[in-house]
Amino acid sequence: MSDYVIPAPPRASVAVKGEAARFPVRRIYCVGRNYAAHAREMGKDPDREPPFFFQKPSDAVVDDGADIAYPPETSNFHYEIELVVALGAGGFQVPVEKALELVYGYAVGIDLTRRDLQLAARDQGRPWSWGKGFDRSAPCAPLRKASEVGHLDKGRIWLSVNGETKQDADLSELIWPVADIISILSRSMTLHPGDLIFTGTPAGVGPIKPGDKVAGGVDGLGEIHIQVTP
Ligand code: MN
Repeated sequence: MSDYVIPAPPRASVAVKGEAARFPVRRIYCVGRNYAAHAREMGKDPDREPPFFFQKPSDAVVDDGADIAYPPETSNFHYEIELVVALGAGGFQVPVEKALELVYGYAVGIDLTRRDLQLAARDQGRPWSWGKGFDRSAPCAPLRKASEVGHLDKGRIWLSVNGETKQDADLSELIWPVADIISILSRSMTLHPGDLIFTGTPAGVGPIKPGDKVAGGVDGLGEIHIQVTP
């Protein structure tokens, strides 16, 4: 007899470079406005106020190379290149100096965004969920293990559309580095193995349309490629 009254949904997961087994995804946390120049382009003051978070559903993850159908209910569909942190251990109220011990690995990801819905919600004091948490909104390249690539606090992060560079920054520009993000997030939520954290995007966000080829990368981690389809 099954444990469930309907077939259980498949577990969301991301690939791990060099491993046949995949990394199971429990939750996806995302950091808002974590690079000063991006905060300014969004019309906000980049002073170092505490970071804020939003979430995407875990099954929004898709692999490197995915076709992304232009999503419904938007006419301003945006890319945001981001460093993604994958947790291999959990914790609550984790001190900054212990936070990196939770990290299993890192990946290059794209926080796809229905910008028109996000900004309308923001301006009306409504949740961002519909602008951020739609189907296939979290492309994520294969994870690289921290035991192999180390912990990343600097290195180029970039994105191009059809070969034209749109975002070009450095991880050292993160307002809140990875250890701080983990520690602060763990004050509000108990973190668990399988949690992903999208750490925010640098300046240069913009629209994409069907037919566009989007590439991005982080030095030391590799690249991600997606295509937008009708
Ligand atoms: Mn983002």
